[in-house]
Amino acid sequence: MILVREDLCDFCGVCVSVCPPDCIELREAEIRIDHEACTECKLCVYVCPVETLEYVETSHERAV
Ligand code: SF4
Ligand code: SF4
Repeated sequence: MILVREDLCDFCGVCVSVCPPDCIELREAEIRIDHEACTECKLCVYVCPVETLEYVETSHERAV
């Protein structure tokens, strides 16, 4: 999944414009990622000029 470090973000909106499924929402001082819709293509990580976004591997298996 994609993690956001909002303290670094300058809210330029570049990540929003490249996200293929349009699952990043940029508000005034907040970035939200719809993790259900995210395809983990990592485009947003590559384009972010200040390395705000980070991809971390997550296990899809969850203990019940
Ligand atoms: S590209 Fe990076 S700095 Fe710009 S809005 Fe997205 S997370 Fe923030
Ligand atoms: S990894 Fe891809 S699909 Fe997920 S938020 Fe970033 S650009 Fe969008």
